Amino acid sequence: MFKKNSFKIKLTFSYVLLIAVSFVFVVFFLDRNLGENSLRDIRFSLVSQARLIEDQISPERLKQRDTAYLEALTARLSSKIDGRITIIDREGKVLAESRKSHEEISGMENHLYRPEIRDALTGLTGIDTRYSSTLKMDMLYVALPIKQNDDIAGVLRLALPLENVERTLSAVRKIILLGLFLALGVAFILGSLLASQTIKPINRMIHVSRKFSEGDFSRRIIQHSGDEIGELAATLNKMAQDIEDKIREIEVQNQKLAAIFNSMIEGVIVVDGAGRIMSINPTIEKMFGLLKKDVQGKAFLEAIRNNDIAEIIKSVLGHGRPLSTEITLVYPVHRIFEVNTTPIFGNEAVNGCLVVIHDITEMRRLETIRSDFVANVSHELKTPLTSIKGFVETLLEGALDDKKNNRNFLAIIQDHADRLDRLVDDLLSLSHLESKEIVLQRDDCNLYALVEKAIPGFASQSKKKNIEIKNELPEGLSLKVDRARIEQVFVNLIDNGIKFNKDKGFVRICGRVIDDKVHVSVEDSGIGIPQKDIPRIFERFYRVDKARSRELGGTGLGLSIVRHIVELHGGHVGVESTEGFGSKFWFTLPA
Ligand code: ADP
Repeated sequence: MFKKNSFKIKLTFSYVLLIAVSFVFVVFFLDRNLGENSLRDIRFSLVSQARLIEDQISPERLKQRDTAYLEALTARLSSKIDGRITIIDREGKVLAESRKSHEEISGMENHLYRPEIRDALTGLTGIDTRYSSTLKMDMLYVALPIKQNDDIAGVLRLALPLENVERTLSAVRKIILLGLFLALGVAFILGSLLASQTIKPINRMIHVSRKFSEGDFSRRIIQHSGDEIGELAATLNKMAQDIEDKIREIEVQNQKLAAIFNSMIEGVIVVDGAGRIMSINPTIEKMFGLLKKDVQGKAFLEAIRNNDIAEIIKSVLGHGRPLSTEITLVYPVHRIFEVNTTPIFGNEAVNGCLVVIHDITEMRRLETIRSDFVANVSHELKTPLTSIKGFVETLLEGALDDKKNNRNFLAIIQDHADRLDRLVDDLLSLSHLESKEIVLQRDDCNLYALVEKAIPGFASQSKKKNIEIKNELPEGLSLKVDRARIEQVFVNLIDNGIKFNKDKGFVRICGRVIDDKVHVSVEDSGIGIPQKDIPRIFERFYRVDKARSRELGGTGLGLSIVRHIVELHGGHVGVESTEGFGSKFWFTLPA
């Protein structure tokens, strides 16, 4: 019920202490006043009784020392009052005494020098309190002069044992003490009840506050009293609401940040002031083949063995200035990274840094391809142009009149001009295919018929080498494709099949449907392609034998155009070849 040192104990004992202290004060003053007051009352009543008795005593008979009368009178009156009655003559001799026999009285000592008697003999009311050796107890004495006109005939003395007063007082004290204990008991019970009532809302607040401290801000303290406790509860509720709102706000912000962090194409590493990894995003996991849980809390170099980045981090943490640099990773794969490192400040000191890593390998590769392409195009254009220029100059310098050769020279010029024309045509169609604007004109198209229509175009070319072109496509094979472009695919492949073939060879076109794809192949019995060249064969201007290709009128763009067209249709291209035995170019198209 009571916890050690609890507020309830303190409150209950405060009540009890308060009652006890008040009681002690009350008892202290009451006791003093009660003693004095009861003594005064007793004195007063004794004086009054004395007066009444004095009135009954005949001064004449006192003067005559009529002891029989006086003794009878004292005996009669003393039975009616509580005290002891003594009658003394002017000389201090005791004439009558209510508690003594006649013989005893005569043996009593003279009372003339007793203080109260002396006062009474001077006409005053004598009062004294002292120990009576006769009765062996404290006594209160009141003495009055017994007057006859202005003459004092003797003294009447009343004596009362103070034992009575003490008895009354101690009885009163007992009652007060009992009252004190009762009051303390009631104070304890009422106090603990009151304390319970006071403590209840506080306990409720403690319970709910504990929930707050555990992070549960959904609870509220129910306390509607308008007092300070009610106000405290309202303040705590408001505080909880505010904290809950702030936490929610922070959570939303965190979620947004986490979403950005996790979806960034750039790799991000957060490093603390000591150079330990605090967080990495999924891009970094992919870049370096790590798992966030394995590297968190580790020193940078321990987790990612890259000295260049570690040096940059060290420098940024040391100087507090952002740094950008490009680094090349050789192992495990060749990669080029742009690393941007920014310091994070806290309390005006650098307490970490943010490393943003951008993989620019692909960008650099494209840049290289673009510059290679420009160089290639320039080179391809330059060769026929130089020849044309050379022959034109020769003609102008006089060869025009050389009847034997002039037509020859013009034929060569025409040849180079044709080459230029083909090159520009191929470049234009390639650039058109690469541009995002291209729209395929898809139509139902029978592949067999398409190839049948194209074959006659190769008649003279194939005849020269005795090459047989076999259309082995299934006759009913129809697809929704851009007819003109797919025709170009076949033309380019058949053209290569003839160009790079041997005498009396063949070119065979086959096709079949596998699952949801149409597989088409153009196979030849030609010179084949060396294994090392196969991966690059579809690149622009890539040729196994440049001179031979040029000689045969090739531009080096044919296969590149094939790949673009097939990929635009959602298909793939590939080649299988054995040097010296022939090649099999294939492509797929969605059925
Ligand atoms: P080209 O205009 O030179 O034919 P392509 O892009 O069509 O350009 O072909 C690129 C290169 O691939 C050719 O120069 C040749 O070396 C090789 N090649 C293409 N087709 C064949 C084939 N059927 N047999 C052997 N080599 C081929």
